[in-house]
Amino acid sequence: MVAKKKRIPASKTATNQIGKLTPRFNFILNPYGHTRLSSCPLCQRPTHMRKFALLIYIEKWGLLALGKTCRYCTPCELIMAHRDELEDELVRSFESRAPEVIGNPYTVFGTVDKQRWKESLGRCTDRLSDALEYAADFKKVFNLKIQGGWQPAKKSRRITPLRGGATD
Ligand SMILES: [Zn+2]
Repeated sequence: MVAKKKRIPASKTATNQIGKLTPRFNFILNPYGHTRLSSCPLCQRPTHMRKFALLIYIEKWGLLALGKTCRYCTPCELIMAHRDELEDELVRSFESRAPEVIGNPYTVFGTVDKQRWKESLGRCTDRLSDALEYAADFKKVFNLKIQGGWQPAKKSRRITPLRGGATD
């Protein structure tokens, strides 16, 4: 299978802002497991790794702040998360506390200020209303919404053909 050179349409349509801070960063969720985005899909410059606290809305659950190391392009302010890695982390987050949530549609909205996020982890709280005080929506989002289907690895994840058009 050969992926077509993809054009990247911006898909953010919602205007209601969730985080209280000024929107910052652009975001892309990469659904192609074999494309590691060592260069930026927008400007072609090399990317580097940087850790973010991503703010994610999960249907029938609510908001989650998830610490995640992503690819990042400084000139484009573009955060690139790999869908497979992100969903593995989500599965891990929910396996013990709310397994019924696994597989629900989700949306990655923005970032939470990392320092504040770490402090709130220290207090062991799920109070996202607090986190929203330190959250910033993305300015522009690509591939905003994923239609569910994420599963624990031990179940069907590896055999579910979720990824179309992967390059190999
Ligand atoms: Zn770039």
